[in-house]
Parts: sequence; C-alpha cells; structure tokens
Amino acid sequence: MLVSATEMLKKAVAGKYAVGQFNINNLEWTKAILQTAQENNSPVILGVSEGAGKYMCGFKTVSAMVKAMIEELNITVPVALHLDHGTYDGCMKCIEAGFSSVMFDGSHFPIEENKAKTTELVNICHSKGISIEAEVGAIGGEEDGVIGSGEIADPNECKTIADLGVDFLAAGIGNIHGKYPENWKGLDFDALAAIKTLIGDLPLVLHGGTGIPADMIKKAISLGVAKINVNTECQLYFQAATRKYIEEGKDLQGKGFDPRKLLAPGFEAIKEIVKEKMELFGSINKA
Ligand SMILES: [Zn+2]
Repeated sequence: MLVSATEMLKKAVAGKYAVGQFNINNLEWTKAILQTAQENNSPVILGVSEGAGKYMCGFKTVSAMVKAMIEELNITVPVALHLDHGTYDGCMKCIEAGFSSVMFDGSHFPIEENKAKTTELVNICHSKGISIEAEVGAIGGEEDGVIGSGEIADPNECKTIADLGVDFLAAGIGNIHGKYPENWKGLDFDALAAIKTLIGDLPLVLHGGTGIPADMIKKAISLGVAKINVNTECQLYFQAATRKYIEEGKDLQGKGFDPRKLLAPGFEAIKEIVKEKMELFGSINKA
C-alpha cells in the first residue's frame, strides 16, 4: 500500500522504533526491499536519489514500477516512495510523478532561502497528501557528487525549519554518507537531545545509517530518531554476494549466465541486510 510517510513515522516516534529508508537502484532492489517488508510485517520507505531516478529512466518510470510491484506482489504493509536529497525541481518532478514523499535538501542555501523554498514545497505537498522532509546542517560524506562535511545542526535552526510545517527533519549530528572513517568521533547525542527538546514529537531522520554501531542506533532512536536511511550497506552486500558467485565460477556452470541466476545471490543478500536493519530499528510487526 503506497502511503505518505507521515503516519508511519508518527507511530514510530510514539512506539520508540525507527522505519528504515532503503534506497533503490533497479527492479531487483525494489523487489527485495518490498518482499522483506511484507514478510516481516514492517512499514518501509523506498528512497530514490536524483541520480538513481535518472538511472532508472526518470521518476515516472520509478513511480510506475513501484506502484505496479506493490499491486502484483500483494504488498499490504505501508510503503512510502520518497525522493532522497531532492532539489526544488526534483521535488516538483516527483510530486507530479506520483511519489508519496519527498525530501527537500535546502541545507546548502542561506537559511532565509531554505525557509522560503521549504514553505512553498510544504504547501504543495500537503495539498496533495505527500509528506516532506527537510534538512538542517549538511550531512557529511558524498551523495550524488555533493560532498558535505558532517556539520552539527544548530537546534534553533532546526526549530525554525520544523515550524514551517515539514513532516520530519534530518538534522546533522556528525553522521555522514558512505563508509565511516577510522577516526570518526561518533554521533553527537548532546546535540540530538538539544534538538529534540526544541522540536518535540516531530520525527527526526538519521542519514548515513551504514556503519553506525548498533548501540548508537538504539540510543538515537531513544532520543527521537524515527527514520534511518540505509544505502551503502545494501550496495556492499549486493557486491559481495555477486563477487562470490562469479569467483566460484557459478556463472560458467550450466545456465549460470542467466541474469535471473546471476543476480539472485545479490538479491538474497539485500533481503538479508534489510531484515537485519528492520530488527535493529524495531520496525518488525509494526505495519
Ligand atoms: Zn542522506
């Protein structure tokens, strides 16, 4: 069932768990994540970056694929189709294409411009029943060529953006995209607690979920994080399983070259890591 992410995240805040956003890249990714959510009776958010949207032949193609797959696979758990780190134009395209949720990443604009653009998009989204995420404090690491330095969000700025009516808020607390470096200092829980005090029950989003230790994830959830983005980890699992299949020479045996066989180990690996994350986040049986 395609829905906005608003209700599922309100429930997550109240129930002290988080819903995973897993980014998709193609049909196999989408099917693996949807099936895992259904098998575990978990709500789920499918994340699509602008780069991945382009790769999959545009947001309309993505939206049509996801909607058809939900119907054909009888997916009854709540599913949100969400634009990840959207530009203003990207948000407009996704709204038109039938996405149920968007993120407007205005963190690189001066605060006044971020506010004006966010307000405009909040109004459009809410008139159509679409949820909207905003970001304060750039998330470190690289995403689609944009490199952020891992800022700690200013709690007052978070409050300002929250008051514009966004449905959930990504706040930088030292988290970064991609793999974490050896000398990473960890999440800043004092900053997270200060933000939570000012914004109340508004769901918080933790980007860069790959490689954050389980105890830090649990603590973040206890402090109001209700949505955790996972992208790189699925890619690493897919890569390792695919590499193993080929290194064992299985693609050379019988019909091992058949793409449905060649991609199967990677597909199963994505299912495994998504289930593991749903267990860690506490979203199993919360659909
Ligand atoms: Zn992100």
